[in-house]
Amino acid sequence: MIGIDPRATVQRCPACGHELAETDPRQRCPQCSGLLEIRHPAPAATGAALRALLDARCGNRSGPFVSGVWRFRELVLPGAGEDVLSYPEGNTPLLARPSVAAWVGATDLLLKHEGHNPTGSFKDRGMTVGVTHARRVRATAVACASTGNTGASLAAYAALAGIPALVLVPKGRVALGKLTQLLAYGARTLVVPGDFDTCLDLALKASEQLGVYLLNSINPFRVEGQKTIVLELLQQLHWEPPDWILVPAGNLGNTAAFGKALREAHEWGLIRKLPRLAAVQAEGAAPFARSFAEGFARRHKVEAHTVASAISIGNPASYDRAVTAIRETNGVVTAVSDAEILEAKAVVDASGVGCEPASAASVAGARQLVRKGVIRRDERLVAVLTGHILKDPDAITRYHDGATPLPPHANPPIEIEPRVAEIERVLRALG
Ligand SMILES: *Cc1c(COP(=O)(O)O)cnc(C)c1O
Ligand SMILES: [Zn+2]
Repeated sequence: MIGIDPRATVQRCPACGHELAETDPRQRCPQCSGLLEIRHPAPAATGAALRALLDARCGNRSGPFVSGVWRFRELVLPGAGEDVLSYPEGNTPLLARPSVAAWVGATDLLLKHEGHNPTGSFKDRGMTVGVTHARRVRATAVACASTGNTGASLAAYAALAGIPALVLVPKGRVALGKLTQLLAYGARTLVVPGDFDTCLDLALKASEQLGVYLLNSINPFRVEGQKTIVLELLQQLHWEPPDWILVPAGNLGNTAAFGKALREAHEWGLIRKLPRLAAVQAEGAAPFARSFAEGFARRHKVEAHTVASAISIGNPASYDRAVTAIRETNGVVTAVSDAEILEAKAVVDASGVGCEPASAASVAGARQLVRKGVIRRDERLVAVLTGHILKDPDAITRYHDGATPLPPHANPPIEIEPRVAEIERVLRALG
């Protein structure tokens, strides 16, 4: 497009090719209303030189490179300069837990635990970039629709930036840990009757009519930040890609971000082969899995119902971008039941790691795909755990101390009389 420097970052509409300047505040393509994508100029260094540059920053103890997002700045937002707003975030662990691998039926399973981010989910990786960009466009207020974690993250980063935040949440559908974060970090919390999709529609209208800067995952700058989940795990594996990366999939922002990260990492010589992506949905909210089963012939909308509230989304906003991600990585999309999600979560929790329900979809999906023979037992798998165990305490109580009959991995509390003999009885029963 005329007037845009080819060496600058631009926002581009993949559907029609229209380009906007990096700081254009519009959220959709003005020609076809498609979602926008960020295009960076190729970094000055590529291949081994780029790997060396990124690896050298791992030792930093201060400054922006301490962040597991801004360490990859050339690939995230090269022009951010002095505006960078960082907690810092990222630098999450990549864990091997034999008990979880055994349950999945795989010999080489690693867990990338994004619950270790500052507000307890991967959303912080996108939000540090999104709120940094909001400052660059001089936003006076920021907003998002959320099932909880996006809102919690926005609330925290807006507080850090000193910008007022509005968070629209579906009434009665937000897990306790997340709702309390919204209130505590000081966001205006707007409780809307309806589901997430209702909230997102309303937030979109508010951003168009009232000029608040929208930070939902359709915001392409958030996608740039979320790419670093993949970049960081590749770096942790010394740039030897795994065979598969499994990710819980709701609104498909992460699926899209992972695809873009892998494409760019390959293009810029960070890796030589592409891992395959597996996007895992909950059966009660699986429009993307349905489209995949039909060879992406058409897009579906469903009314979402699942215990995994973070992926309870019926009409995923990043559908098109996610289709590209699955196609480009020879990926798959599948769905697992709530019972499978809760069992996977119980196994992850009991390993001492712990995660919120939606996160366990990746582990449940790994087991299902190994059983179906889509994934070979001896392939290297990285399952992303998206959120922290304390996000949804009610789900834990219901599983361990609610249902009858108790589910397979339930660990109910035991009431005792204040006598040592009672403890002895419990000890004996342990065998
Ligand atoms: C947001 C979120 C998801 C879903 O990610 P999408 O990008 O919407 O597909 C999954 N798990 C947790 C914990 C989340 O917060
Ligand atoms: Zn367009």
